[in-house]
Amino acid sequence: MFNALVVEKDDDGKTSASVQQIGEDRLPEGDVTVAVEYSTVNYKDGLCIGPGGGLVRNYPHVPGIDFAGTVEASDDPRYKAGDKVVLTGWRVGEAYWGGYSQKARVKADWLVPLPNGLDTKQAMAVGTAGFTAMLAVMALEDHGIKDGPVLVTGAAGGVGSVATAILAGLGHEVAGVTGRPETADYLKSLGATQIVAREELNETTKRPLEAETWAGCVDAVGGEMLARVLGQMKYGASVAAVGLAGGAGLPATVIPFLLRGVNLLGIDSVMQPYDNRLRAWERIAEDLPMDKLDAMVQPAVLSDLPALGRDILKGQVRGRVVVDVNA
Ligand code: NDP
Repeated sequence: MFNALVVEKDDDGKTSASVQQIGEDRLPEGDVTVAVEYSTVNYKDGLCIGPGGGLVRNYPHVPGIDFAGTVEASDDPRYKAGDKVVLTGWRVGEAYWGGYSQKARVKADWLVPLPNGLDTKQAMAVGTAGFTAMLAVMALEDHGIKDGPVLVTGAAGGVGSVATAILAGLGHEVAGVTGRPETADYLKSLGATQIVAREELNETTKRPLEAETWAGCVDAVGGEMLARVLGQMKYGASVAAVGLAGGAGLPATVIPFLLRGVNLLGIDSVMQPYDNRLRAWERIAEDLPMDKLDAMVQPAVLSDLPALGRDILKGQVRGRVVVDVNA
């Protein structure tokens, strides 16, 4: 028997989440069984724990869109008992049972061996949010980052915190946009040199183009803020669009694309092929200043998750929440 956070739905369609002891016979099919050590809280986890549940296919459900741990048993030659592994994406925690559990069974294709230089706790301090931040930085690099400040929106959140630390660690000047002025010192400790108040970029303007300001952007917010940022990019600069914490609409014009050659790059962490995932995790181990991780991390246990799921949907979580599933 092992512990897992199980979300159930009653006959009236009401969902509830509780920590339960379950047997290994309840685990789904898969070729690798993992003794999970750590998982995390991402925006999607908030959706999967809560009453919305739009991403969940079947109940009862074990959420947790990422985890790191040790292989316990494997039918796949790529993994053997004792190997350290990390998983992000592939709809684990949404369509399939995820990491809020002391054991998980998944397809070998969804795993990545933990890269040298990262332990399982550090891997989950990064987690899906940080993995996505690295994919965003790599996409910006592929298109060339201009000289000047790189903007990170939703900077105090999970994606934003890791993106700030990676970009600053690579030597870029980083401007962090936040709606929480009290996080300014935190963002500076991660390497941001400029703090931009959320209201400054939420104000609408009729001007489709403004001063060429940003050399690149990792955008976790979308909506009106993304529309405004597009008009402030330097000629030929790129925006890596990661999230929609501020809205799914995009009230923009085509002018920044036509007159400034701005690139809008969509980032999807879920269906990344194995080689890309491996490369991104290796880059994380190489380029994320590990001394910044402690400041980003808030520890949690399985029973904290229902409350944390609500908090992240309200934009109230700072940095990354690392869940010790064995505590
Ligand atoms: P967090 O909740 O940790 O961070 C989001 C941040 O956005 C908040 O901390 C807040 O930052 C800011 N924010 C929240 N609400 C608003 C608002 N209404 N207007 C402007 N800013 C707002 O989430 P994550 O960092 O984990 O994820 C961010 C987004 O990225 C989510 O939409 C998530 O679904 C998406 N995502 C996408 C992935 C992909 O594969 N494309 C993978 C992972 C995440 P502050 O307080 O500093 O303003």
